[in-house]
Amino acid sequence: MTLFRTVAELRSYIDQARKDGKKTGFVPTMGALHAGHLSLISQSQAENDITVLSIFVNPTQFNESTDFSNYPRTEVQDLKLIDGLNVQAVFLPTTQEMYGAGNKNLLDFSLNGLDTVMEGSYRAGHFDGVITIVDKFLTIIQPDAAYFGLKDYQQLAIVRYLAEKRHPSVRIVACPIIREVDGLAMSSRNVLLTSEERVKAVLISKVLFGIRDTWKNRSFEDIVNEARAAFLHSDFELEYLEISDAYTLHPLSDYSNKAAVVCVAARIGKVRLIDNCELPA
Ligand code: AMP
Repeated sequence: MTLFRTVAELRSYIDQARKDGKKTGFVPTMGALHAGHLSLISQSQAENDITVLSIFVNPTQFNESTDFSNYPRTEVQDLKLIDGLNVQAVFLPTTQEMYGAGNKNLLDFSLNGLDTVMEGSYRAGHFDGVITIVDKFLTIIQPDAAYFGLKDYQQLAIVRYLAEKRHPSVRIVACPIIREVDGLAMSSRNVLLTSEERVKAVLISKVLFGIRDTWKNRSFEDIVNEARAAFLHSDFELEYLEISDAYTLHPLSDYSNKAAVVCVAARIGKVRLIDNCELPA
């Protein structure tokens, strides 16, 4: 496992790997690694000769400065966790390395409305930051494939669109959501929950699985209303619970013959959690 802190060093390593005919998989993360991240790594290892993991808490995708400053940073622990996992390259750049010293210029690229719903309407500018950093990474690394979790469903849809238009040679691979035993989706932010909040956090996945299990057996309206109501009698503050077309992310107001997804964002105490569940056509 080699650590790289500069673009130039990483690039020269990757150029050599490409000359040697190695297939490269790329796994971008913000660190505080957990089993969800490790599943992306194993998927990349199964399909490539080398895996490049990035750990970078990208400032431009945070719309709240406290969220950015509170975000867990556990570099030493992260490196221990992946030691021996056959990750060939770990990229740990500074903000200066990724953005330079001046203004953090954002990529100006239209996302065809994928960024205006859900996370886009609650986290102004978030996806501008996401596409800026993903575009930079894909340009630097030019991997054969890049691995993203379905946990961030809207992000994945946006990254797919970005890659299709700007990096068509990169295959974007969607990886399933890894959950704790009680159903809570693994997330770096889970460590910020108090032990009481952690117990209560199971509500999100319970509501999502409730929708999945009764999907098309009850009226669409009842399903949505009851799911939203479950949060009213809880310690969560629900930001949105939306059932959307799985591809366009347009909100649905009734059953259709298209694949759908239910996405939730909710706050408990100081922590904002997101989760989702795919729903069949
Ligand atoms: P993050 O470090 O939170 O930016 O996440 C890095 C990548 O890991 C993203 O593609 C996430 O969607 C993915 N990821 C995060 N949590 C999970 C999870 N519980 N299961 C699968 N993938 C995940």
